[in-house]
Amino acid sequence: MATQLQIARSGTVSDAMKSVARAENVDAELIRDEIAAGRLVIPANTLHLKTGLVPAGIGRVLTTKVNANIGTSSVRSSVEAELEKMRAALAAGADAIMDLSTGGDLDKTREALLAECPVPFGTVPIYQVIEDRGVEDIDAGVILETIEKQARQGVDFFTIHAGVLKEHLPLLEHRVAGIVSRGGALLAQWMLHHDRQNPLYEMFDDVCQIMAQYDVCFSLGDGLRPGAIADATDEAQIAELRTLGELTQRAQEKGCQVMVEGPGHVPFDQIQYNMQIQQEICHGAPFYVLGPLVTDIAPGYDHITSAIGGTAAAFYGASFLCYVTPREHLGLPDAEDVRAGVIASKIAAHAGDLARGLKGVAERDRRLSTARANLDWAAHLGESLDPQTAERMHNEACRDIGEQGPSADYCSMCGQAWCSVRINRDIRRAANLGGPKARAAKGA
Ligand code: SF4
Repeated sequence: MATQLQIARSGTVSDAMKSVARAENVDAELIRDEIAAGRLVIPANTLHLKTGLVPAGIGRVLTTKVNANIGTSSVRSSVEAELEKMRAALAAGADAIMDLSTGGDLDKTREALLAECPVPFGTVPIYQVIEDRGVEDIDAGVILETIEKQARQGVDFFTIHAGVLKEHLPLLEHRVAGIVSRGGALLAQWMLHHDRQNPLYEMFDDVCQIMAQYDVCFSLGDGLRPGAIADATDEAQIAELRTLGELTQRAQEKGCQVMVEGPGHVPFDQIQYNMQIQQEICHGAPFYVLGPLVTDIAPGYDHITSAIGGTAAAFYGASFLCYVTPREHLGLPDAEDVRAGVIASKIAAHAGDLARGLKGVAERDRRLSTARANLDWAAHLGESLDPQTAERMHNEACRDIGEQGPSADYCSMCGQAWCSVRINRDIRRAANLGGPKARAAKGA
């Protein structure tokens, strides 16, 4: 079976490409061209495609996508709890799910999640490699077997930390937070213990062969991503990025689809540079960023710090945002944290797409604003990113003012006499101007 990249390069438009084109209202030939150029990926394991995956595209010509990380830990693990989190993420609009489980039965958890996951599903195979094993017992065979096993299960994209090299480790000397990526830290430990190069780098061609066989998309991991504002855009981060650029080309030459992972903690003024340098070094491969978080001082609110960074990232060059939940740095998220994280990241993605003028994106804003100006609460709430929260708040306000939800012509925020929306509507009626509804009806 050929990969989407190989199909695109042969000049053919696949069913998955057609499906993405329909969903995003763009030309299927554009999707094909972008995949062939390595600027767009459709993470779609050929086996998952047969069991309910709805293909999704990730690239700059499409809307920015949002990933939700879920997964057990050694402290808390239950398949049911992870299913609940995945359902919460999907209900909130997550475009992809990553299972980062490190506790309990990893195979069973992954199998249960994949069985009901309609969106691209990713994992970090090195987490399973380390399960019940010390670094001293890990070798190339164990790593390849694990990657192949997960590919056979239908996983659509793998984070592969092949860019952390032995020669990068001395560059970490002056870091405040050192290595914060779990995969990066494990591989650094392995390299130091064995006094050898990163095994994922050394056997990269073998990994490519498995990825191409099932069309699992690479998510080239940034094992040295900055975990503190003070460490942002440092020598270690950029050195690894250069290796990721080289690996992007090598994987694409072998027919594999590739996206590249990025930071992390980055001050707002460095985000544009980070997006541009990745696009340059990695030849336009889709950039998948964690946040980025624009400050370190808001534990408990890191869905907000990351949404600020995510908006700038989406505007300047990222194609895929990994959400961050309010519980980041503090504990394993529950379903409500997952929901809050996805909504925050969806806001960032949409705000970025709106600002870069992506075709059709502003229409939803216009629809919501029109409904708001008409005091059409049903449409106002229905167009919102989180209708559940918006409706709850509106109902609470209606209770305060003693009005029925759909007919209320003001809310508790300003009160009836001060409701500028209601006053505007009256002014328009008096001046016979017609409101947004009337103008829309006239086609103006
Ligand atoms: S009362 Fe204030 S907040 Fe509420 S609908 Fe009117 S203008 Fe908007």
